[in-house]
Amino acid sequence: MSMRIGLFGGTFDPVHYGHLRLAEEAREHVGLERVYFVPAHLSPFRTSEKHAEGHHRLQMLHLATQDNPAFGVSEIEIERGGVSYTIDTLNAFRTQYAHAEFYLIMGLDTLAGFAHWYQVEAILQVCQLLVGIRPTHDWHATLASLPEWVRPNLQAVPMTPLGISASDPRRRCAQGRSLRYLMPPDVIEYIHQHQLYTEPR
Ligand code: ATP
Repeated sequence: MSMRIGLFGGTFDPVHYGHLRLAEEAREHVGLERVYFVPAHLSPFRTSEKHAEGHHRLQMLHLATQDNPAFGVSEIEIERGGVSYTIDTLNAFRTQYAHAEFYLIMGLDTLAGFAHWYQVEAILQVCQLLVGIRPTHDWHATLASLPEWVRPNLQAVPMTPLGISASDPRRRCAQGRSLRYLMPPDVIEYIHQHQLYTEPR
């Protein structure tokens, strides 16, 4: 059987337990050998909305994933700069791992906009989607709103629903409130050390 690799893109601004549980449950669900977290330099859908610099978001991901031997962090989109397109990242990974099977990991809210991604058909030709439920989004309604051609490539990842999104810890941080139990302690320490998310936005 060929190697199975999961690619998990996002802003990770900052990484939290919702991301980590989704990656772990996706890994277990289809037996991924590796899951690469790929922080975007700029997401095509929120080009003006970035809070921590790429090098901070990378470092927080390193701290959050260091104790999981199946997890890795890819700097490819931060290094490439500009707007980050998944098709470019996928093609670079396919060149490096020519015989691997690729899976894109995402939450349900991301799936809702997936049909509008740049070169979406090319993406679907070379990978499957692993989609984690989010308590804020309705699975059946999202599925019903998708074009037919997306559905055969899609697998649901049954996961413990976690209602965390990165905007919540950012807001708490700006208010001087506790971040405990929302993300790994090393990430919290890093946020405080580097005084990230102190501006009320
Ligand atoms: P923000 O509040 O800034 O939108 P976010 O955590 O929702 O933060 P990203 O960091 O871009 O946004 O998320 C990366 C991916 O992880 C997306 O596909 C998103 O759907 C998924 N995701 C984020 N949080 C959760 C969660 N709690 N449960 C399941 N999936 C999640």
